[in-house]
Amino acid sequence: EAAEARFIANNPLSKKQHELAVGVLPGGNTRTLLHTSPFPLTMKQGKGAYVWDKDGHKYLDLVGELTAGLYGHSNPVIRETIVSTFDNVGLSLGSTTVQEHKHAALLCSRFKLERVRMANTGTEANMHALAGARHFTSRRKVVVFSGGYHGAVFSFPNGKPAPNTVDKDDFVVVPRYNDVDLAVSTIKSTPDLAAVLVEPMQGAGGCIPGTKKFLHAIQDAAHEVGALYILDEVMTSRLAPYGLGVKLGLKPDLVTMGKYLGGGLAFGAFGGREKVMAVYDPRVEGSLAHSGTFNNNTLVMSVGYEALKRVFTEEACVELNQRGDRLRERLMQVTKVTKILFTGKGSLIGVHFVDKSLESITCGEDIQDKERRDLRDLFWFEMLEEGFWTTRRGFVALTLETEEHELEGFVEAVGEFVERHRDIV
Ligand code: PLP
Repeated sequence: EAAEARFIANNPLSKKQHELAVGVLPGGNTRTLLHTSPFPLTMKQGKGAYVWDKDGHKYLDLVGELTAGLYGHSNPVIRETIVSTFDNVGLSLGSTTVQEHKHAALLCSRFKLERVRMANTGTEANMHALAGARHFTSRRKVVVFSGGYHGAVFSFPNGKPAPNTVDKDDFVVVPRYNDVDLAVSTIKSTPDLAAVLVEPMQGAGGCIPGTKKFLHAIQDAAHEVGALYILDEVMTSRLAPYGLGVKLGLKPDLVTMGKYLGGGLAFGAFGGREKVMAVYDPRVEGSLAHSGTFNNNTLVMSVGYEALKRVFTEEACVELNQRGDRLRERLMQVTKVTKILFTGKGSLIGVHFVDKSLESITCGEDIQDKERRDLRDLFWFEMLEEGFWTTRRGFVALTLETEEHELEGFVEAVGEFVERHRDIV
């Protein structure tokens, strides 16, 4: 309560902004996830590795726009590409473009896809991948996992489709991620199964990595019953040079992507086996339409291409994820003997406050009813006071701009938090 009172006192302009915004936006906001009580902070500028709020506080940006902000706020390649595309190409040409081909070719070679198509968001990528799988198999049902998040209209918290999930009745939700037997038996016993859709590491579900055994077992089971295996790499493609699926030796029929692959602008893509992707080939009679005014807009195609080719190279990818692994280890060191747990892989970290010591978390159900929301909120308020911008629900996505010494500053702040609150952590 004291921390919340300080938050209110320290942020009068954000508070005012919120009061104005609720007059036109329900709840004052357009992204539910970003709503925080008593009001969200309004950021007004990002530069390099930092963001500034309306009241003038400076924060190290550890939100990284939920992985889409991989490049930070001031990458010169991105700036130069935006300006030169505007000056020399134009924004959207109402035609197929060279830029779309170039980005598609790069995505195919980098992520080992035979064919790819573009969209505007990860949600759309999953929507089209599911429609494609249904068309290809002439079946309808989709197996997904509790805690899975596949976009605004495809989320499955607590073992059920969220109320806004489209075609809710067509999803069969396996109640525990990483439970091999339960998943395999569900896949084998679901009639009319078109696809199994899974994140190789649950992102929004708490940065919980899928085990290699689990991800291979469900792939094999899907194939055994003639269903497609769709890997949602919207968050995880950044975790290894060719994506997490390739690193784990998986062979999905379709892969969905998005976030940072548009260079920080709105982006989505889905791709995979040539035979499956042919359902979207307009030269084939009876194929599916896949339209979208901005699917191939020159700005995103150019920026996404240059950023992946020149900035997030395979070497940069390895280095960033090593930096993340080192950070996670350091965070665990300073929180030893507490009930705070850091999950995830490489540059994506989940922060969990639970009511008893846990070695690891293999699915959301491990921590259901054990989460200490009071402590989580206290952590968020106090990290803000220390100058660190993290998500309230405990998610950290590193950007390329963040340097080792800045991360060490975060480790120190977390260590001090633990010391300050010894009695409750
Ligand atoms: N799939 C996963 C795994 C995601 O984490 C997200 C977004 O967080 C999406 C899909 C949806 O992407 P978008 O927000 O671009 O629609």
